[in-house]
Amino acid sequence: MTQGIEGKVVVITGASSGLGEAAVRRLAHDGAKLVLGARRLERLQALAEELSLGTDAVVQTDVTKFEEVKRLVDHAVKLHGRIDVIINNAGLMPHSPLERCKVEDWNRTIDVNLKGVLYGIGAALHYMKQRKSGHIINVSSVAGHKVNPGGAVYAATKHGVRVISEGLRQEVKPYNIRTTIISPGAVATELPDSITEPDFAENVKAFYDRIAIPANSFASVVAFAMSQPEDVDINEILFRPTRQEY
Ligand code: NDP
Repeated sequence: MTQGIEGKVVVITGASSGLGEAAVRRLAHDGAKLVLGARRLERLQALAEELSLGTDAVVQTDVTKFEEVKRLVDHAVKLHGRIDVIINNAGLMPHSPLERCKVEDWNRTIDVNLKGVLYGIGAALHYMKQRKSGHIINVSSVAGHKVNPGGAVYAATKHGVRVISEGLRQEVKPYNIRTTIISPGAVATELPDSITEPDFAENVKAFYDRIAIPANSFASVVAFAMSQPEDVDINEILFRPTRQEY
């Protein structure tokens, strides 16, 4: 399935591990022109080298800083003349109950998961509007639909991503821009490592060990959304491990 993917210029945040890395592998295989962003430059460089993407294909990016996200997108446009797709994927999930008042974790979660997505939209949208073409893919979660104890702040950001994406969908109608929310369930990545409270980390890791599915499940969903005909706009995909109850 390379139709709709081959030759497309795709910027992806959080490309250094997990879902982002899996999407990069799949889209590179299908012939996309990729530009990767994350903070861990050496991980990005190793991935770009392994997939022969070229040294220009990586930009060290902290999505909590608008000017860095803008630099990532501007770099892609300078390199390839346009941006066709942005995948706002970077995220973290430092679960804890609200009563523990983990202000640092709350702030990081909001800054990366919510503001990072806004910054990606803000950096890419004007290029897409100019060309009346583009596709913005935002990564939410099952937690964008549900909340459970310890997951309130994470779920708030992931609900927020869905709300922002729906507002965006309506705003960009005149510009022929497509918008997709991808909401995964438990997928085996480094995400549980972002939990700073040991008891929650242990529970979530045990849950993931029991049921998580491989990250290429996410890559297949990205490829599906991207490979639709121009006039088909896949607005949301929610997927889980078959075994997942939550
Ligand atoms: P990983 O921890 O494996 O990957 C997270 C990615 O986000 C890394 O590439 C990391 O790169 C990047 N990132 C974190 N903080 C920043 C930052 N400040 N600036 C730039 N990049 C950053 O987890 P996943 O692959 O699972 O997570 C990807 C997305 O999928 C997240 O939005 C997550 O919420 C979502 N998701 C994941 C699920 C799962 O079960 N795995 C389920 C539902 C949603 P670096 O550290 O190098 O900056």
